Amino acid sequence: MPSDADQMIEQRTSDTDRVWTALENVKDPEIPLISVVELGVIPEVRIEDGRVTVRMCPTFAGCPALDVMREDIRKAILAEGFGAVQVDVVFDPPWSTDRITPEGRRKLKEFGLAPPAKCNGSVTGDMLDQVVCPYCDSDRTTLESIFGPTLCRAIHYCNSCRQSFEQFKPV
Ligand SMILES: [Zn+2]
Repeated sequence: MPSDADQMIEQRTSDTDRVWTALENVKDPEIPLISVVELGVIPEVRIEDGRVTVRMCPTFAGCPALDVMREDIRKAILAEGFGAVQVDVVFDPPWSTDRITPEGRRKLKEFGLAPPAKCNGSVTGDMLDQVVCPYCDSDRTTLESIFGPTLCRAIHYCNSCRQSFEQFKPV
């Protein structure tokens, strides 16, 4: 027989799992293929007395998608039957493209976005110049514009398959 304490811990674990599962269904408003979990913007989930607190680190300051994402997160967790949900925007840890999960990177590529190089906090020019084409894996690519349709993307041209593609810039 499991003790009461064991059961309580089990209950808490399954609640936390439910929150994470709900979060996996919340997509980045700009790249609807990738979830907020894969994007690495959720450093922590806490549940206390049925109240859920989600910490979220914003990808780019002032990104208009931020409010949408916050509201989507709240709704997704409320839909799981939790009574109260609070989404705190935190800047510690700071978000970096290094936080994007391997699955997230695979999906970015599938979406035609070159995944960002791992930068460990310092971005070098090479990371923007030497980018592998997400369509044909060629490295014969040229940086066309450092500013794509959004601040977080740069535009490149592949000399091999002759297509333009976007890169999720390392941050
Ligand atoms: Zn190509």
